[in-house]
Order: sequence, then C-alpha cells, then structure tokens
Amino acid sequence: MKKPGPLNAPPEIMSVLDDLSRSHRILEMEGHGDMSMGHLSYRDPEGRGLWLKRGNLALSEVQPDDYILIDFDGNVLQGEGLRHLEWPLHAEIMKARDDVNFVGHSHAHFATVYGAGKGTLGPVNNHGVWFANGGVPRFDETSHIITTVELGKAVARTLGDAEAVLLANHGIAFVGSDVKSLTLCGIFLEWSAKFQIDLEASGNDFEFPDADETVEKNRRIYPEAARNNYWWYFNRKLDRLEGREPQPM
Ligand SMILES: [Zn+2]
Repeated sequence: MKKPGPLNAPPEIMSVLDDLSRSHRILEMEGHGDMSMGHLSYRDPEGRGLWLKRGNLALSEVQPDDYILIDFDGNVLQGEGLRHLEWPLHAEIMKARDDVNFVGHSHAHFATVYGAGKGTLGPVNNHGVWFANGGVPRFDETSHIITTVELGKAVARTLGDAEAVLLANHGIAFVGSDVKSLTLCGIFLEWSAKFQIDLEASGNDFEFPDADETVEKNRRIYPEAARNNYWWYFNRKLDRLEGREPQPM
C-alpha cells in the first residue's frame, strides 16, 4: 500500500489531526472496527471544508498524514489516497450543524445491532446518559450506505440537534465540538447499546429514568473535567496497546 506524502497543513491543524488519528485508533480499540470501514472528520478551521480520513485503511491504522481535505461538495483540495464513498454524511452534517466540528461514522457492532431493530436506545446506564439532551434517533429511510448529498441531508435531518444517530441495518453517526467529545460519544453509544441489549435479553422488566433527572445527571457526571479525565484514560490505554509508555497528560 502506497503511503501518501506529508500533508501541507500548519502545525495547529496537524496537532488536531494527530489527536483525531488517536481517536480513530481508540475507537477500534473500543469495538468500532470493521475492516477498512468507518471514518472521522474535522471541520477545516480555515473554512475550506473538512479533513476526512482517507480510504483503504482500518481505524486502527490511521496516522496524522492519513487525511484528505475536501470541500463541502466533495472536491479533493489536498492529500492523497481514496476519498471514502460516504463523504456526504460528514459534509451535510457539518453544513447543518454550526456547533459540530467533528463527525464520526462507524459500524460499531452493538450499536448497529440495536439500530437494526426498532427499539429506542435510552439512558439505562451512565453511558446512555451522555445522550440525555437529544436522545439517539434512528435513520431508517434506507439501509444503504450514505453516498449521495440527498442521503447526507436526510441523515442530518434525522440527527437534528442530537449527538448521535443509528443508521438502520448499516451503522452509526456521531458528532462532537472537539475530538474528546466525539470519541467519548462514539464509545458511550457502543457501550450503552451493549448494556441495553444485555438488559433486554435478561428479560428483566425496566423503564427509562425520568427525563429531567437524566439531563441533570448528564451535567453532573460529564463536566469538562470528567471528559478530559476519560479522554486521557483512553489515550493511556492506547499507548499501552501500541507498546508505548503512557505519557502523563
Ligand atoms: Zn458505513
């Protein structure tokens, strides 16, 4: 596999792409891997479009040079390698959401299992409480992958103001204002889906906790300090997995 040359991006952007590469690798470590499928993106701070992971590469293989810069119409402005077919999912979500600087898409197993059914994912454990404000809507207009602008817009509409959406019989999409929130959002979606699948399979009767209490709980358990703490935890775990001494953060 030919390795693309270095990107011509300033250090501020390369530093974010470094974190975003770690996020790809952390997500594979936490159950999001599906061969070379799945990709994260970063809104270009210079307004040109977005930095998208290049194709033919597993989440666990992504390094800081493995991105292409595309405009919101999908034209490649910089970088080498394949443009993922599902680029419109990223472009249309970013166009619809000013607050979103990062978009993720994967075929995480348990979240995809949950999205293949008709159930509602709810705040039945702490990880599910991440989604207290918007819930997790389900996009079921098609089971196809999101390869057209029209489908990208439709996914963005279903996502609305939420932080994640289940793509029926396909996978998930999730968003964040920064890399750590994007990463935690993806991990907690997968973990909460697994938890709820276990709960439902147990046959134990259950109901969702009170909605207002859930919103308050979200504020209490996921303040900025906790988000930093969890982001650093996953980085240390990644360092150990990749054979490095974890760096204090
Ligand atoms: Zn997909």
